[in-house]
Amino acid sequence: MARTCIVCGLAAGSGEHVFPAALGGRRVNSGIYCPKHDNSYSGLVYEIAGQLDFLNAYLGVRPDHSSQPKTAFAEHTLTGETVSISAKEIRFTKPRIISRTPVGEGEAVELSFPDQQSAKQFIKKMEACGHEWAALPKLSARPYITGSVHHKRAFGGACGLGAIAYMTQTFFAQEFPEVARSGALTDFINYTQAIAKVAALGGCEQQTEEREALIEARSALTTALEPFGGTAPAWWDFSPPADARANKFEFGHRVTVGIDGSDGQIYGRVALFSALSFSMRLGTAPQGSATREVTVDIDPLAEHPPHDINKHQVLSAPGRVHVPEHATQGLASAIADGTQQRAFTNLLQRLEEHQLLKLAHAISKALAPCATLSPLEAHALIGKVIDEQPQQIWRLVTCFVEGLKEKWTQGNLQAITPILDGLIAHDVQSASGLSQQAEVTLALAKAALSAQMEEDCAAGLLNEARIAELMGRGPGLHVVGQAVLAPVLEVFGESPRSDEVRG
Ligand SMILES: [Zn+2]
Repeated sequence: MARTCIVCGLAAGSGEHVFPAALGGRRVNSGIYCPKHDNSYSGLVYEIAGQLDFLNAYLGVRPDHSSQPKTAFAEHTLTGETVSISAKEIRFTKPRIISRTPVGEGEAVELSFPDQQSAKQFIKKMEACGHEWAALPKLSARPYITGSVHHKRAFGGACGLGAIAYMTQTFFAQEFPEVARSGALTDFINYTQAIAKVAALGGCEQQTEEREALIEARSALTTALEPFGGTAPAWWDFSPPADARANKFEFGHRVTVGIDGSDGQIYGRVALFSALSFSMRLGTAPQGSATREVTVDIDPLAEHPPHDINKHQVLSAPGRVHVPEHATQGLASAIADGTQQRAFTNLLQRLEEHQLLKLAHAISKALAPCATLSPLEAHALIGKVIDEQPQQIWRLVTCFVEGLKEKWTQGNLQAITPILDGLIAHDVQSASGLSQQAEVTLALAKAALSAQMEEDCAAGLLNEARIAELMGRGPGLHVVGQAVLAPVLEVFGESPRSDEVRG
């Protein structure tokens, strides 16, 4: 059936993504917007993709227009330099100078490159510049251990909500094509169009000196919000329906659209990563509209259809929304009582768990031959596999040491906590990012984990679940803790106690 654009009524036909491609949406619909109005929303899509890039990168979501999983950029706390984050790794984006030593008339510079390609590019550039230089015959590939990275993204805001509203509007038009063209959405569409214009002009953040066009767009947005009492008809929702079915996918997004025929309420709900929830009121349906609700779960990790979505329909309106008296009230109280922070923390914990299980699966596969190898061969293989996971093991080490430090501080032992700091000290000037002492700590942790895995393997206990325990949970902390603390406790003439090292 030929469709018209829900904004202008002209022929529709652009191939827009129903759920944004940047967030892993895989479905294209060609009957909701004309090319011009499909394009008009790109500023909003860009904005929400930017706000969620860290989460998408961490999870390994592949945008639909790309062949590679998402990469996000953050600041490395220690050096202030830019690092790129993906599900696979964290790495610097530029070459770094490790050391400079005067040698005769010139100097020897030790550099670290994020990858081989970057090293080649650098050499080319040096040659092109005509610099007199020679490479020293010392080239080695070493993993860099990152400490914390700093990633600042304000999530939500007027544009974030606008993007959520636009997504929901598109889903509604897909599921309720007649009502979407009945004029019932006019005010809502005016609002999404107005906020989209602000986003397109770079107005998602207040500029110091704003262009004429942006000032006009802001004023048009104010006018578009009048029918809603001056606030956006979309809001954070921190008390979504409790009886809702669980999302079909582990990190699935959910969009719910519906009409309650009893009073004509047209409503929408969005839950991103099954964690961040929003509600909105889209308008009032014509009298006599049937009651119906459609819920679509979207798997951002699905590579392609058909198993990327799960659709569910009911002839009732369990998800109808209650418009808050003050739209920001929910958010304000959620920030005050920590609900929003908890929602994020929860999501990050789930992401970490997901990463750990993925890692355990990969390690388990790599170690599968161990069962049939001689002890010596198994020792070599386990050592090699463990050696490839410095970042994860470093995580265990720091988690243990930080936990112990907190305990010591509470027990009024803060005078000796510098000993713990020394164990995990970073050194910006080293190729690995670690101080010499921290290198020793990491080596001890690796050796202890390897030894434990060898023992488990010999006893026939080294399965995927056990590997996850050792690589990221209590048992791993215990093993690593005993190993890294042994030299410290020797100084105090004590032997490690298991209740202490559990952290
Ligand atoms: Zn149009």
